[in-house]
Amino acid sequence: MTLKEAQAERIEKEIWELSRFSAEGPGVTRLTYTPEHAAARETLIAAMKAASLSVREDALGNIIGRREGTDPQLPAIAVGSHFDSVRNGGMFDGTAGVVCALEAARVMLESGYVNRHPFEFIAIVEEEGARFSSGMLGGRAIAGLVADRELDSLVDEDGVSVRQAATAFGLKPGELQAAARSAADLRAFIELHIEQGPILEQEQIEIGVVTSIVGVRALRVAVKGRSDHAGTTPMHLRQDALVPAALMVREVNRFVNEIADGTVATVGHLTVAPGGGNQVPGEVDFTLDLRSPHEESLRVLIDRISVMVGEVASQAGVAADVDEFFNLSPVQLAPTMVDAVREAASALQFTHRDISSGAGHDSMFIAQVTDVGMVFVPSRAGRSHVPEEWTDFDDLRKGTEVVLRVMKALDR
Ligand SMILES: [Zn+2]
Repeated sequence: MTLKEAQAERIEKEIWELSRFSAEGPGVTRLTYTPEHAAARETLIAAMKAASLSVREDALGNIIGRREGTDPQLPAIAVGSHFDSVRNGGMFDGTAGVVCALEAARVMLESGYVNRHPFEFIAIVEEEGARFSSGMLGGRAIAGLVADRELDSLVDEDGVSVRQAATAFGLKPGELQAAARSAADLRAFIELHIEQGPILEQEQIEIGVVTSIVGVRALRVAVKGRSDHAGTTPMHLRQDALVPAALMVREVNRFVNEIADGTVATVGHLTVAPGGGNQVPGEVDFTLDLRSPHEESLRVLIDRISVMVGEVASQAGVAADVDEFFNLSPVQLAPTMVDAVREAASALQFTHRDISSGAGHDSMFIAQVTDVGMVFVPSRAGRSHVPEEWTDFDDLRKGTEVVLRVMKALDR
């Protein structure tokens, strides 16, 4: 049967409405279990009910609106995204996917669509980790990957734990186990998200068919030389830690440019000690953030970096140490879902291309328990996590059409 069309105006209205639920300051700041979160939650629940969905919340406050299917034995087909934000972020990151899911629910209702599988429309909490410093907590809970002790060990800057904050919010965080889904009750999960990068806009493409989500390695490099007087110590007698560190930064950049397969590397933080303008740098620490859709590329890159750091340090007569403190493997999305998204975009005659997500998403954890598909829509100038974040509402409508078509295809 044919579905009615998604409406950009309704998507626009709801995005603006949700953007108002923000703490003071520029952009959107909607942290988990705050009054802003509570206000957004109320609006979302009302919208779900208006779309004739039955609504429940899990232990951490993920909101699940459900449209029953004709075959109650079948696992659900779900669509959704997160509705928290970073501090002073934009109004589209996450929220766009939630609003488009709601629009899909409205279209289903208005079209009188008869679904075999139950359909679920999910609004996920705490994806950004802006309050409890642990990204994708809500998505990990859906995947059954949050340990009970994390409810106490994860605290905000005031020392309030997830358990305390969720309980005060009226939730039952102790019922974490019941939040976990499996392939037995979740056939598939589809997430529409803004690209948060410049590729789609630059290539004037309407839909990004996400094939993978990048893996991340975070390293700390410590270079130890010796601090001395900047005036009295001749150049050839110095153990300046910064000069070899600078060379290391340049070499990492060169390696990644050589790989040229979508792998990226960033030195975002560097400290120089003692840090006086008239002191030879004795110690330099810097971070390395490496991301790639290919596990093999990360492995090779890290091996190369380790060898290079050792060589550069020994040539400079300093000591250096590389320490890996974060490791998340890339996730390849289920080929059947990638195909379904691509076919939907083609059938709707939207321009599309395959794309790897450079940012992490709840989907990367939910992909551990069921088939996951992701639909990207363009971000103006590739900006995200800033108040200037923007996606055209008509692009969100197109994304919603893709989501609807994928749900229909999976339901067959
Ligand atoms: Zn997001």
